Amino acid sequence: QATQLSGRVAVITGASSGIGLSTARLLAARGAKVAVLARRKDALDRLVAEIEQAGGTAMALAVDVTDQASIDAAAAAVLAAWGPANLVFNNAGLMLPGAIEENKLEEWSRQIDINVDGVMRIIHAFVPQLKQAAEQGVTVDLINTSSIAGQYIYPYFAVYSATKAYVSHLTRHMRVELGQKNIRVSMIEPGIVATELQSHVTHQGVLDWLADAARNIEFLQPEDVAEVVGFLAAQPPRVNLMQVVVMPTKQA
Ligand code: NDP
Repeated sequence: QATQLSGRVAVITGASSGIGLSTARLLAARGAKVAVLARRKDALDRLVAEIEQAGGTAMALAVDVTDQASIDAAAAAVLAAWGPANLVFNNAGLMLPGAIEENKLEEWSRQIDINVDGVMRIIHAFVPQLKQAAEQGVTVDLINTSSIAGQYIYPYFAVYSATKAYVSHLTRHMRVELGQKNIRVSMIEPGIVATELQSHVTHQGVLDWLADAARNIEFLQPEDVAEVVGFLAAQPPRVNLMQVVVMPTKQA
């Protein structure tokens, strides 16, 4: 498997923890060069050291997805070092559930800035590289992290869920356009994954719901979602898994 993804130049956002970190490990172990992006540079540096120790190739790039200049600088660094990216995992995200009545405009805005505008800023910076890679005839993937929240209705998740519904519908539309250029576009919609995502939750109703879920459900591990990314990327170029829903077995 170490050579399954050799020749792939992967860019992974949200790679300092959770799903992004596990995906960087997995793609690197299968032979991809991985550029890991997030704000916490120390965590990225540790990940790069670990990947290099294991014989892989990685690069840490400090990026805030709310800052287009930091993303553009990362895109330029990838292009200069390895040529155009041919796999972008557009995965950074923030979940701050709360009651609409609490009227926390700042929390709504932060989620939209990262989960919607951040996704668009990455697309803005990297689609030209994906196009360039596709023109060279290599396999190309743009994989967006959505959520089961983009389909289901949960109390207190209105804004977060809406950002993920945006990502899912965006993906469907982009796929029909970019597929014509040999760029596959996919979304992964996970149920609950054991990561730091829940650590930012402050709403008591949601904390109770999560605690109850943790007692009854074995959550997915970030490695489980990384396997899905690896599976999508390893398909022959004619195969585009557009939408993968991956749930903990016991989550309704
Ligand atoms: P984590 O909190 O572990 O990871 C989130 C990642 O996003 C971190 O690496 C963080 O890095 C990065 N990030 C957050 N804000 C920014 C920012 N402004 N600029 C750059 N990077 C940022 O959670 P997950 O791994 O669970 O989340 C990954 C994705 O999966 C998210 O899109 C999430 O919505 C989605 N998801 C998660 C589910 C779950 O149950 N865990 C279920 C369904 C979907 P840093 O702080 O260093 O910048």
